[in-house]
Amino acid sequence: MLHIQNGQCGTCTHFGETHGSTPQLATIRTKHEAPETFVDACGHPRNLGLHLQVSSISRCDGFEPAKPS
Ligand code: SF4
Repeated sequence: MLHIQNGQCGTCTHFGETHGSTPQLATIRTKHEAPETFVDACGHPRNLGLHLQVSSISRCDGFEPAKPS
């Protein structure tokens, strides 16, 4: 299990943004933990055409904090 720091994809509003919230995504945001193999789509407008998949501990300068669910 990975521990997710603030500023990493698992805490970003764009993580999984393309399909909306799922129970697994909600759990990741609540517990700040994710399975090591978990990846999800980055919905940042600059990455949409690339269909970028990121891990919960990836990061970039497009980070925007997810609102509490
Ligand atoms: S790659 Fe950047 S914009 Fe996309 S989910 Fe991660 S931190 Fe957010």
